[in-house]
Amino acid sequence: MEQTFIMIKPDGVQRGLVGEIIGRFEKKGFSLKGLKLVNVEQPFAEKHYQDLSSKPFFPKLVDYIISGPVVAMVWEGKNIVTTGRKIIGATNPSDSAPGTIRGDFAIDIGRNVIHGSDSVESARKEIALWFPEGTANWQSSLHPWIYE
Ligand code: UDP
Ligand code: MG
Repeated sequence: MEQTFIMIKPDGVQRGLVGEIIGRFEKKGFSLKGLKLVNVEQPFAEKHYQDLSSKPFFPKLVDYIISGPVVAMVWEGKNIVTTGRKIIGATNPSDSAPGTIRGDFAIDIGRNVIHGSDSVESARKEIALWFPEGTANWQSSLHPWIYE
């Protein structure tokens, strides 16, 4: 089954959106496989966002991610990378539809509350980076009520 890496950014934690965000993924039917609240250091944040290192906003992005604890998670489900990005909404909250996490809870692109992997390959790399210890092995007993 497909997995993705989801991170509630420091603004989401500070604003008390952790329960709301986890609830949206849970209620959809996806399964939580890994979860931790962590502070990351600059080199780690730079590694996570290494594909964006040439962008002008990169230094500010790294400062944002290290400004407080983040909730790092692994979620699992059918087509979760693409569906997870839809639940999150467009990168710039000005373009994020109402009903999406960013559409409902964010205003500025540099305070957009949540990260989600953009491809199965990115998800694989990000899960390996954030959860080198591995993740939990379980299957919801609701599985047959969610999948046909
Ligand atoms: N970002 C920013 N300014 C920009 C573009 C992106 O501050 O012009 C930040 C924003 O927080 C975004 C993150 O950099 O979520 C990573 O950018 P990416 O293009 O990967 O967007 P995402 O995958 O998070 O939607
Ligand atoms: Mg991205």
